[in-house]
Amino acid sequence: MVFAPAYLDYNATTPLDPRVLEAMLPHLRERFGNASSRHEYGRHARRAIDEARQQVAAAVGAHPTEVVFTSCGSEANNLFLKGAGGCMRAGVLAISAIEHPCVREPARQLVRGGWQLREITVDAQGRLDGEDFAAALVAGAKMVSVMLANNETGAIQDVAALVMRAKPFRVWFHTDAVQALGKIPVNFRSLGVSAMTLSAHKIGGPLGAGALVIDKRVELAPLIAGGGQERGVRSGTENVAAIVGFGRACELAVSELRESARRMRRMRDRLEAGLIASGARVFSTGVERLPNTVFFALAGIDGETLVAHLDRAGFAVASGSACSSASPEPSRTLLAMGVDPVTAKGAVRVSLGRSSSDEEVERFLDALAETVTRLKQMAAIAV
Ligand code: PLP
Repeated sequence: MVFAPAYLDYNATTPLDPRVLEAMLPHLRERFGNASSRHEYGRHARRAIDEARQQVAAAVGAHPTEVVFTSCGSEANNLFLKGAGGCMRAGVLAISAIEHPCVREPARQLVRGGWQLREITVDAQGRLDGEDFAAALVAGAKMVSVMLANNETGAIQDVAALVMRAKPFRVWFHTDAVQALGKIPVNFRSLGVSAMTLSAHKIGGPLGAGALVIDKRVELAPLIAGGGQERGVRSGTENVAAIVGFGRACELAVSELRESARRMRRMRDRLEAGLIASGARVFSTGVERLPNTVFFALAGIDGETLVAHLDRAGFAVASGSACSSASPEPSRTLLAMGVDPVTAKGAVRVSLGRSSSDEEVERFLDALAETVTRLKQMAAIAV
């Protein structure tokens, strides 16, 4: 029998939905045309991209002409920040202190071009500090980027209210909605943002497709110049199969949102009750959160160690640490929330999805209890 660990890391990526794969397969086989070609192969690819553009736009209440396909969410975030930033005289750029690195790093790169970067603080629950946000606007921010839902805690920001507050200041307001799509309703118009980032592989779609949904008044300098695809904003022969999969995944994510959010919330609440009963500290419980995400720490237990032991026990979960170096750094999100570094290093994220089950949650809680007992025994022997 093939050993398949229970997958509880849906915020990292999701398995490809079989219905999405079915929609993609013809484009990986006989329908292999280049969408720019002037023959039937090309025309068919173009029609498939147009249809996917409509599906993505419909999923978030945007117009199809506002959708720019990219290779991933990271590219879309970079395209907004560097693309819009490249068309303006440098000024103040404000981002939240808990943005994903693919917002934070391009924002830092803009500093070399003369931009002044302000990181807006968050409170102990991970919600944006209103006063600090207002101060950034008063300081003359030209671009603002605030994520709709955090990938670690799942905390949701009231982006629509922030946009309203920013209106008199005439800023370009971007939101990274990568983790929100498919888990909560996401609407480009009612949020009122100028730009929004989406990613296919977080919603049962394939790797290799993302989108920047953008108000056409925002001028964008392309990151990739060339053949002029995607209105000249993102050149490169389109990844037709991935784009088609993205469109289908958007359609499914929206049509199944209510039921899937209800299921995930029920399992998440059970999981969280079990964690709290075993003494865990769960982060951001005081604010609106994604229905599938639990970010927790157990006193005296290192997050990386716990994740490794759970992996061996057959459960795929994530630690909150940034693993880009030999010695992992504690979660920046938790540090920004004022959590002490020792507790932050203990953080572990469980994120549920379409194929998660009640039975998996129960098995996870049992395995966690066993693992924690073993780790505590090992620590006691080592003393
Ligand atoms: N933004 C957030 C909040 C994310 O969680 C991620 C991926 O983890 C990204 C952006 C990047 O998306 P992609 O993996 O498509 O580059």
